[in-house]
Amino acid sequence: MAAAPAVPADLIVTGCTALLHADPAETDPRRAADGIRFVPDTALVIRAGVIAEITDSAGAAASPSRERIDAEGLVALPGLINCHTHSPMVTLRGLVEDRPEQEWFNDWIWPIESNLTPRVIALGARLACAEMIRGGVTCFADHYFATDVIADAVEETGLRANLGEAYFSSQGAEGRARSLDRALGLRGRAGGRITTSLAPHAPYTVSDDDLAATARLAAEHGLPVHLHAAENRAQTDTSLARHGRTPIDVLRDTGLLDVDVLIAHGTGILDRDLPALRAATGRIGVASAPRGYLKFGWDTTPVRALVDAGAHVGLATDGAASNNTLDVWEAMTLTALVQKRAERDPRWLTARQALRHATLDSARAVGLGDTVGSLAPGRRADLVLVDLSGPHTQPVHDLAATLVHSARSADVRTTIVDGRVLMRDGRLTSVDVPSVAGELAELLPDLVERGHGRRIQTYDT
Ligand SMILES: [Zn+2]
Repeated sequence: MAAAPAVPADLIVTGCTALLHADPAETDPRRAADGIRFVPDTALVIRAGVIAEITDSAGAAASPSRERIDAEGLVALPGLINCHTHSPMVTLRGLVEDRPEQEWFNDWIWPIESNLTPRVIALGARLACAEMIRGGVTCFADHYFATDVIADAVEETGLRANLGEAYFSSQGAEGRARSLDRALGLRGRAGGRITTSLAPHAPYTVSDDDLAATARLAAEHGLPVHLHAAENRAQTDTSLARHGRTPIDVLRDTGLLDVDVLIAHGTGILDRDLPALRAATGRIGVASAPRGYLKFGWDTTPVRALVDAGAHVGLATDGAASNNTLDVWEAMTLTALVQKRAERDPRWLTARQALRHATLDSARAVGLGDTVGSLAPGRRADLVLVDLSGPHTQPVHDLAATLVHSARSADVRTTIVDGRVLMRDGRLTSVDVPSVAGELAELLPDLVERGHGRRIQTYDT
């Protein structure tokens, strides 16, 4: 009897050199440098949005597939993950520069954000998704307002996202309730590509009572919490002067270290905070976005100490209003550079460590460490193909060094999420950038108007 014909795969990517993790199930961030290898002549067989099989070109040659991508000469990486952003803030890219954070927030950003409309957020989120797809980002953790509108952009553009509806205690009980409603209402949408978090803004804008209530709700509903904390040293110093506690102490005392938490920035985390982080019973993720820290003149995230304390340090861009780009590739390069300077140690944060932070550690930081972040059978098919044939990336002696220190996000040729091709050979398939940018341009004069004297919140470390 003849064998039954094989069911065709949905997509087979052949001939690439693939970045594989020796043990994608490894959850100990202290093994960061280990276990990355590059395997030539790899074929990735994708079925129903999942990497079904990893083989070689010969092994895949006979397999039928609805679609094939010849990736000869390209490098396949797990898609990059932006662990902390405010995607619609691309609308304010480059609007206010060269100012300290108090002035940036109080005189510009928070007055302007009182003008936000669902249409501006919708267009900003689409532009942000286009930028991220173009730069090889397949997943982002967003912390913003109107996440229902952002979810539509995620659904339409094909990206994966963790969405957290931001709230301040100044909004009263309504803010916290909305954050929960959105987290419960949006999770699982877009074919499961959307996960959600509770998203208090920060310990300096959200009361201890609200933070403690958020921790209880997170435990009750199985939701992670995404917030800013110890963003810079001034916040930590102010918190110590006013309350005798660091922002991390506040997270511990309100129960937020006993649920899964994603901390944005943490450049003000001190050595005295490390025991609390080490003792945490929840998963601790920290998102590091070094470009913005350089612009504000801050210190950087203490990655080495955090890794030693068992935290998963992921890479991020923050919003484009401060960071100017949503380029996680650039965050990877900057992390490798800035961490050497911070530790005064050229041996620390090698290119392989940077790649590990950009992939599996970022996935763990946003709670998707068993789903994405690695090219492995059973993981969702989120990957990018990178072209290293340009003069700035030739010759290649050490692929990790080439990727981190010579390649750029513009070298990403193809971006795939859940097995769907969102950029093919440099062309976006799910967003019409000129039409989004054109419509947005008409709305900008009303958006940036500050004559009304309103402000959504006041910054006071
Ligand atoms: Zn932020």
